[in-house]
Amino acid sequence: MNGHTSNNLDVYNTRGPWQEMDLAFLGGEPVVPPGRITPWPAPKKEHLDALREVVDSGRYHRVNHPIVADLEQNLATWTGKWKVRAVGSGTAAIHIELDYVKDRGESVVTAALNWPGAVGPIAISGLRPVFVDVDLNLAGIDQEAAADRFGPGVAATLITHLFGNNILVPHARSAARAQGVAVIDDVCQSIGAIKAIVDGAYIDTDALALSGNGAKHLGAGELGFVITEDPNLIKHVDRVSLTSSSRNGERTFSPYSEGYNYRPNVFSSSIAKMRVIDLETQLQIRRNNGKLLWEMIRDLSGIFPLFDPFDCNQSMLNFPLRIEPEALGFRPGPAARDTVVKLLQAEGVPVLVWLTKPVFEYLPTIANDWRASDFPNTVKLLDTMFYVSEIAPPNEAEVMELYAEAFHRVWKALSKFGPKISDIATTI
Ligand SMILES: *Cc1c(COP(=O)(O)O)cnc(C)c1O
Repeated sequence: MNGHTSNNLDVYNTRGPWQEMDLAFLGGEPVVPPGRITPWPAPKKEHLDALREVVDSGRYHRVNHPIVADLEQNLATWTGKWKVRAVGSGTAAIHIELDYVKDRGESVVTAALNWPGAVGPIAISGLRPVFVDVDLNLAGIDQEAAADRFGPGVAATLITHLFGNNILVPHARSAARAQGVAVIDDVCQSIGAIKAIVDGAYIDTDALALSGNGAKHLGAGELGFVITEDPNLIKHVDRVSLTSSSRNGERTFSPYSEGYNYRPNVFSSSIAKMRVIDLETQLQIRRNNGKLLWEMIRDLSGIFPLFDPFDCNQSMLNFPLRIEPEALGFRPGPAARDTVVKLLQAEGVPVLVWLTKPVFEYLPTIANDWRASDFPNTVKLLDTMFYVSEIAPPNEAEVMELYAEAFHRVWKALSKFGPKISDIATTI
């Protein structure tokens, strides 16, 4: 209890303006009833058929299992261009790709707004990460800042696409090409980026890394994919990821004994194979839900999407938003976002804060080599962003309407009481 307690409680006890807000955080009914949302990966009975197919096959592992081969082929066909190899995880895919290009230099240029697990493989490959800020309008690598860092000694640039946004950055790609810097795209959250998304063309890259884990579009358990046109990288997958069995079933040991046993899980592959069939529909429903939700909340003050929900090529995994604290009467910093998230969560809306620190602060061996203040856009986003999850099928328009209603309820309270709302909340 803090200093304003008695004052605020007086207000609360004399049926005052607080109750009229009906905020769930202050004891009202949540807008989204418990159990109304289906959380991803949205389990279905058919998934049991996929698992049974593996059991019936009598083989629970092997990279050359026909289910794995079919999945690779079906996903390759879906992309319309690339070759695909299934591996153990998205992280494994990033490691294999970096391992393949590691002799080109000593460092990898990547964004400070990043997933710690994606940056880990840089060090595992014996390379050093070099961080640059993000473009505020993209929540992806600032292409001019990246290009400034390219030069001899840079092995690769790792371009991370977050939340389903497409990080096209054509200038960074051509600058990398000109300097012999490998281009690797982490599209773990953005499966649509493996299709032709640049005015009908594909992004210019050496390799894409995709995750099939349970939280991502393929929602398949533990799974990842190396995606490329380079036949030697495809061969390299086996060298890094298998210790004792080759794709043709021979028992061969990796010549470097570098095999990490990054084999794809066959059960996960079977689920993923089933999901590829409906992938286009899934993406369309996610996009429609994102657009619909944005249309219903866009008039609220001080709220912005991290990328354009109307871009028909994005593959929104979760709907990322940021708020401008000043527009809600808050000082700069995370307090406004944290308040909004708390109030929306109480209403039953599945909103989450992603990360709160630049990626290097999560990596103890390099944390002291970098300063957050050198990455102002990254810090600004980390202080102000959150995302709405559960925009995937079977959740449809009615669920989005509930989310939007909760946003309106929260904004109404915020516009009336501003930052005071969190004081009230802590006293009750
Ligand atoms: C999920 C994710 C990864 C890692 O994928 P896993 O399959 O969980 O190893 C890497 N990068 C990003 C951006 C991710 O979201």
